[in-house]
Amino acid sequence: MQNLVILGGGYGGMKILNELLPNHLPEDVTITLVDRVPYHCLKTEYYALAAGTISDKEVRVTFPEHQSLQVKYGEVTSIDTKEQKVILKDDAPISYDDLVIGLGCEDNYHDVPGAAEYTYSIQSIEKARHTYSVLNNLGPGAVVGIVGAGLSGVELASELSESREDLTIKLFDRGKHILSSFPERLSKYVENWFVRNNVEIINQSNITKVDEKRIYNHDEPIDCDVIVWTAGIQANHIVRQMDGEKDRSGRLVVTPHHHLPNDEHVFIVGDCASLPYAPSAQLAEGQAEQIVEVLRKRWNGEALPETFPPIKLKGVLGSLGKKQGFGLMADHAITGRVARLLKSGILWLYKYHNG
Ligand SMILES: Cc1cc2nc3c(=O)[nH]c(=O)nc-3n(C[C@H](O)[C@H](O)[C@H](O)COP(=O)(O)OP(=O)(O)OC[C@H]3O[C@@H](n4cnc5c(N)ncnc54)[C@H](O)[C@@H]3O)c2cc1C
Repeated sequence: MQNLVILGGGYGGMKILNELLPNHLPEDVTITLVDRVPYHCLKTEYYALAAGTISDKEVRVTFPEHQSLQVKYGEVTSIDTKEQKVILKDDAPISYDDLVIGLGCEDNYHDVPGAAEYTYSIQSIEKARHTYSVLNNLGPGAVVGIVGAGLSGVELASELSESREDLTIKLFDRGKHILSSFPERLSKYVENWFVRNNVEIINQSNITKVDEKRIYNHDEPIDCDVIVWTAGIQANHIVRQMDGEKDRSGRLVVTPHHHLPNDEHVFIVGDCASLPYAPSAQLAEGQAEQIVEVLRKRWNGEALPETFPPIKLKGVLGSLGKKQGFGLMADHAITGRVARLLKSGILWLYKYHNG
């Protein structure tokens, strides 16, 4: 028997399971999935979990059941590619024949002093729950600072402002306009939404230091009761510790077949892989499909294509509370209710197909 070990049951890991289990798994291959959480988590909804507008149960999806799948609940602490073993905390190592690393990402604090110690996060389910608890225990009129106005910072600020109108929310962003990777028209639409909903945007900010309940913008102190960091991500620390070429965000460089250049048995999927696109759940899923193709062809003794076609990304959709949204679909900007309905519809479909 050969053992395919998948580290992380996120969007990448889950897609590989859903593609392989019903159709493409040879009888002599077993799969071991390792995750520190005993269910698939819908990370794209962590902003709503933290804001307190959805329940914990709504971001959980059960892992599939199959006679060839073993789900191992545990914390990966390192990977020994020479011995082909995954090392777990308080548990025996797991040997693999093929390995897929899909451990996701962590906050990148860009060496800002105090940011790691004094800010809250929405990058893991445990941290999003903790952030939920501090945000929702705040008294009336408390000040919340959110650092970073990319997609997740914007979604958190808008969701929180809608659910807690009594809070003062300050959204700090480096750029001249928020959502710097989106067309200016969309950024302005979202900025106007924030103006109408009393969220203060502090453009061209430069957070130089964070203390307990205090943020320094261009060295000027601003008191906040809670500070949430959404100003950048990097690959999971397990991946950052591995040997091999990495990009500026600690993601491992992979071949066109998505494995390490010096080890064709170690694949990297999702936020841990260095790819020429912004990391996203969609990208992780697209990459997972191509990894399945490689595995399947190898198991069947078929030749591999030299490269795969570029991964098709349908676009990005963001929410502004429960009623409004914005997005780019096939390079077309969309705003308002339609964008929000589309986002909800995509989430519903995802849960329907995976639940
Ligand atoms: C608020 C927010 C909104 C977003 N919105 C969108 C969106 O609208 N569209 C979009 O495409 N993308 C969106 N993203 C990005 C998207 O969530 C990620 O790109 C995606 O989750 C990456 O998938 P992945 O499989 O690489 O990792 P993940 O989905 O993060 O899964 C990683 C898995 O690894 C497990 N894990 C991590 N470390 C360990 C360990 N040491 N031991 C054991 N298990 C471990 C985790 O428990 C988790 O299950 C959003 C992200 C955030 C934070």
